[in-house]
Amino acid sequence: MAGARVVVLGGGFGGITAALELRKLLGGEPTIALIDRRPAFVMGLRKLWVLTGRGTLAEGTRTLSALRERGIDVRQGTVGRIDAASRTVTADTGTVPYDYLVIALGAEPRPDLVPGFSPAAFNLYDAADVERLAARVKTFTKGRIVVGILGVPYKCPPAPYEAAMLLADHFQQRGLRQAVQIAAFTPQPMSLPVVGAAGCAQVEGQLASRGIVFTPNRKVERLEGSTAISDRGSIEADLFIGVPPHRPPALIKSLGLQLQGEWLFTDPKTLRTSASRIYAVGDVTEIPLANKLPLPKAGVFAESQAKVAAAHIAAEITGKQSDAAFDGRGYCYIEIGGGQAAKVQGHFTAPGGPQVEVTAPSEQALMEKIEFERSRLNSWF
Ligand SMILES: Cc1cc2nc3c(=O)[nH]c(=O)nc-3n(C[C@H](O)[C@H](O)[C@H](O)COP(=O)(O)OP(=O)(O)OC[C@H]3O[C@@H](n4cnc5c(N)ncnc54)[C@H](O)[C@@H]3O)c2cc1C
Repeated sequence: MAGARVVVLGGGFGGITAALELRKLLGGEPTIALIDRRPAFVMGLRKLWVLTGRGTLAEGTRTLSALRERGIDVRQGTVGRIDAASRTVTADTGTVPYDYLVIALGAEPRPDLVPGFSPAAFNLYDAADVERLAARVKTFTKGRIVVGILGVPYKCPPAPYEAAMLLADHFQQRGLRQAVQIAAFTPQPMSLPVVGAAGCAQVEGQLASRGIVFTPNRKVERLEGSTAISDRGSIEADLFIGVPPHRPPALIKSLGLQLQGEWLFTDPKTLRTSASRIYAVGDVTEIPLANKLPLPKAGVFAESQAKVAAAHIAAEITGKQSDAAFDGRGYCYIEIGGGQAAKVQGHFTAPGGPQVEVTAPSEQALMEKIEFERSRLNSWF
């Protein structure tokens, strides 16, 4: 297809990978545009390092316009409409035609869905909030800190537990661990259902060994100050750190594309949506696993899905066939403090249900987590 134009929506893990992979596969000629409302990419896992003063957001931030040097037509704008009939995307900055479209618009943490969340609680998943929270943590000397998961699904399922353990480590180092109580809760029946009972026992064992009180099955209705009111009573805190419920970007519902629950349906192998020439990858999609749980929302999956979508689009444009398929294999790290991390790894889309293990913590796994960020930032920008 001469003069083909590919448009990628979203400049996160999925969108950046899709755009760069398409450029690699297609060479210099076709136009590859990437549209994001933000001027910069910020690495999600950095927020945990900001929390306890181990790093800054700036160290994990890169301007998206730098991708222009890699042959990507980067445009800033908020996308409000996709018209599959006329094959156009409309943002507040203009309308762009496409021959192929990749939707990688992510999942939005929505503290506004929890009455009373603002201004008393801190959003662990918001960059500005985490910087404010870090300042509060620095001066916190005694009392009760609660890390609460306020809805599922949410991105990077281990992150709230990592936050609790990194805080425990932080107060230990300041000699204040006895004066600061730390608790974590989830609405789910166990800490990380996708890793199964044995994996959860490991995670919950790590929490318990650091004196972190873990409570499952807590569905919060609202916050009153920093106290969370749940269906099973109230959870008091001096400092409440929340992971808000997540929702897809508002425009997803209005696209006329098939949904999976509230999220975009995408073929789990090819990442094709229900509309021709439109692919969807990453957190904006939901892929059900054999045990009915959804595939976790994680950068590592957005990235591998984007490579598959790019392979299919490149093959279609060049009149070839691609047998690229998302294999559902992935990994992530659970930082536990003390310079160590455990690794969650396995075959999430295995036909009999996820085959996922949690490894014993090691310094090596923490080095791998640090390298995970470094390698992405260096290879993308
Ligand atoms: C604290 C924390 C720790 C994490 N740690 C890890 C980890 O260790 N490993 C891992 O694999 N993942 C981790 N993640 C998860 C990871 O960041 C996400 O799963 C990943 O970013 C998803 O990629 P995506 O491309 O689907 O969406 P995103 O990266 O969220 O990108 C979506 C993009 O779309 C843009 N956008 C949305 N709506 C519009 C619109 N209407 N118009 C224009 N642009 C729009 C957004 O600005 C955004 O840039 C972590 C997340 C957090 C919050």
